[in-house]
Order: sequence, then structure tokens, then C-alpha cells
Amino acid sequence: MQAVYIDAIEKIRVGTAEVPVPGDDEALIRVRSAGLCGSDLHILKGEFGRLPIIPGHEFSGDVVEAGKSVTTLSPGDRVTVSPAGAGYGVNVPGGFEDYVKVRAQNAYPIDHLTYDEGALIEPFACVVHALDSVGVTLGDKVLVVGAGPIGLLLLQGAKLCGAQSVTVADVVEEKLAKAEALGADETFVAGDDLKEKLLAVHPNGFDLTIDATGNPVAQEQLLGFTATRGRVLLFGFASPGATMRIEPYDIFRRELKIVGTFGQGDKFGRALALAKAGHVNLADIISHHFPLGAFPTAIETTRGPEISLKILIHPEGDS
Ligand SMILES: [Zn+2]
Repeated sequence: MQAVYIDAIEKIRVGTAEVPVPGDDEALIRVRSAGLCGSDLHILKGEFGRLPIIPGHEFSGDVVEAGKSVTTLSPGDRVTVSPAGAGYGVNVPGGFEDYVKVRAQNAYPIDHLTYDEGALIEPFACVVHALDSVGVTLGDKVLVVGAGPIGLLLLQGAKLCGAQSVTVADVVEEKLAKAEALGADETFVAGDDLKEKLLAVHPNGFDLTIDATGNPVAQEQLLGFTATRGRVLLFGFASPGATMRIEPYDIFRRELKIVGTFGQGDKFGRALALAKAGHVNLADIISHHFPLGAFPTAIETTRGPEISLKILIHPEGDS
């Protein structure tokens, strides 16, 4: 079978591997769709996880074999996999390969959802966990900076939580158009004058400001857009060692809260239930599909000038 390897920093290879043999409490999954995530780029830079690794922590597929003691899954089941507690694609082989073995307890049936939607439960679960951690209150005015796949999910999640309005800012106008299609109340092109533009419309700032860029320059600005007693959610993955400046007096005097969030906590099941019930549009955050063999092109696409949202890998495209 084929598998993507990150052998060392910036060293990607599509090679071959033995089909894994599942243990008694594991299942073998034929991967059908796997999402490329911003954290995969941090793995590629050697900033996260361990190398070498077969990456991919957002994936869905078909159960082809279940271990002896597995009672919850059968061959033919269509499932998505939570990496929680297992580290698929970060510490152990993940979904950018034809077949992956997973703990049965980490596999969840996707019912009528598509494989692509199944692969996107993991990032949506991270969003559910983040919004739960920071707390969205009915009637909050919310600002999301960054209209990539995660920003578009945060937008939808904040709406589900009862936000009064969700404002989205990004440097790319096409992404803002997508945000509007997915329910953003207003959008702003992010530039040097973003603060003036936002405060002209929202002079008291936002109850909740969210970074979905991982860029410390953008993160640093959030405090200036946040209302007194407001909250700042740092969702984006900043590189280790990067720093932002804050004014302690401002945090103190205006009673601001800064919340960090990482991973999906225990929210995978909730995120899946919300998707099954049709409360979130996952399909419209996808921009590209590539076969497994074109994984290096997928990486170039996400890093290059072409506008991309969620990029999904379909192993069967290689067959
Ligand atoms: Zn991810």
C-alpha cells in the first residue's frame, strides 16, 4: 500500500508500507478521505509531534477488519476516527496512507455523512472544544480573524452558540465571500487599518475575539478589538517560541480574559452529532482534493499563492 512519510524536517515522501495488522482491540480502516491541517505544516517544520511520521489526524474510511475483542465495529462500517489519546498522525501512523489501524473505541460511525464530512469532524471537534472552553454567551458580539477552514468553522460554531453577530476579517477577499455565504454578519479585509475600520463600526469592541490565524502579529491585535470584560480566544497554532506583546494594565483594568485551546478535548462525539443533525456546513469549507500520490502538490498548494481552504486527500484516487 501507499503511505506519506515525513522523514525529517521538510522531507516528504510518498512510499510504500505493509498493510498494518490490527490488534485484538483495534480495527483496520481503508482510508477514504483525510484532511490536511495547519498543524501538519508545523509537523513538517519539526515544530510539533515526532519524526519520522505518517501524518494525518483528520480522516474517515471503511472498516475492513476488526480485532477479536471488538464488538462495536464490523467490516463495511463507514467511520471517522478521533485521534484523542492516540495521537494518530502526530505520534503514531495517521490517515495519509491507504490503510491505518486504530483503536476501536476511537472510531465513530458516520451514518449518512460523506467521507469528506467524516474527515472534517476532527477539526470541528476542536472548534466545539474551543468555544466550550472560552464560553460563548447568548447575544455575544464575536470577531473571528482568519477565514480559513478553522475560521469558517468557528464562525458557524459561534452562531450555533447564540452569538448576536459574527464579524470575520481576513486578508483574502474570496475567503470573506465564503464567510458571508456561511453566515458571517459582516466582513472586513484585514490590513493596517483594520483596527480603525472595526472600531468605527464597533466602538466598544467585541465580547469575544478569536484568532484563527496562528500569526502572533494578528493575535497581538485582538486585545485592542476586545470589549471591557471581553474574552480573547487563541485558537491558531503559533510557532513555538513566537511571542506577542500585551499591556498588563489593559488586561487588569478592563478585566480581559485570554484563553488558549488545543485539540478536541472530549468533544468528538458532540461535533459528530451536530454534523449528523445538519447544524454545520462542512462540505463548503473544502477547496481541493488530491490523490495520495500528489501529497507534495497538496502541500505546495496550501503554502502557495493559490487560494485554498480545506484540502482533502483521497487515497483511492491512486488505485
Ligand atoms: Zn488538525
